[in-house]
Amino acid sequence: MKRNHISRRDTLKILGTGSLGVLAGRAFSIPGKQKHLITLSFDDGFEKSSIKTAEIYEKYGLSSCINVIASAHQKSPGETDAYHQWPVGDFTLWNDIKRRGHEIMPHTYRHANLTQMSLEEAQVLVEKCIDVFDQELEGFVAEESVFNLAYNASTPELEEWLRLKFRAIRTHGDHVNPLPYKGLYRLGCTSHGPDNINIHLENTINKFLEGPSGWLIYNTHGLDDEGWGPVSAGFLDELLDRLNGLDDVHLLPVIPALDTMQ
Ligand SMILES: [Zn+2]
Repeated sequence: MKRNHISRRDTLKILGTGSLGVLAGRAFSIPGKQKHLITLSFDDGFEKSSIKTAEIYEKYGLSSCINVIASAHQKSPGETDAYHQWPVGDFTLWNDIKRRGHEIMPHTYRHANLTQMSLEEAQVLVEKCIDVFDQELEGFVAEESVFNLAYNASTPELEEWLRLKFRAIRTHGDHVNPLPYKGLYRLGCTSHGPDNINIHLENTINKFLEGPSGWLIYNTHGLDDEGWGPVSAGFLDELLDRLNGLDDVHLLPVIPALDTMQ
């Protein structure tokens, strides 16, 4: 093999694992090299689905991204709509899942559409959400977190105000985001429902992988029969298995993805 044909993988072998972190970080800025970040952003915090989602990710040594409603565990099933009628986790579960290396982030205080009220009312609900997370979730720091809007609904005014509170927001917009850069704050996403999303998710990812480098954020919800637009647990398992084996694909929660910034 000619010297200039040594692959990056071979270089890593030659340099040894001690250099892995440094080189892996640099790989993001190698000119011409494709890089596809994918975040599956699981909303609503259904208990059974969240436990299973974390377990599936752990099978592949990956961290899941689970976004929970601050007050949902205090509600009775009768107080929720058709897409939130399943038991949700509480902060004992969220702390356990977070300790295992997964991302637990806020998905509003009570799943209100914050564009259907005054800015002041929306701000009160956001502050209440932050208070609950401050009190209940170990190690939570809003300024280092991503706020996942319910219905991916936000106004420019609300987004500007949220910038004072959070590192990033996930809301409506193009679901193929740029690769993370310093100051990237507004993250767009896609979602699909109310029925099973397997085919839509598969097609969205395949199309993304055929395109240039970027960061796909897909707003998923529950597994199997739980929530709006669920994905099958078996399908998720196979999807992670396939994507985890691809060289230019990185499956990350939002904050670790932002931390790869160039
Ligand atoms: Zn939701």
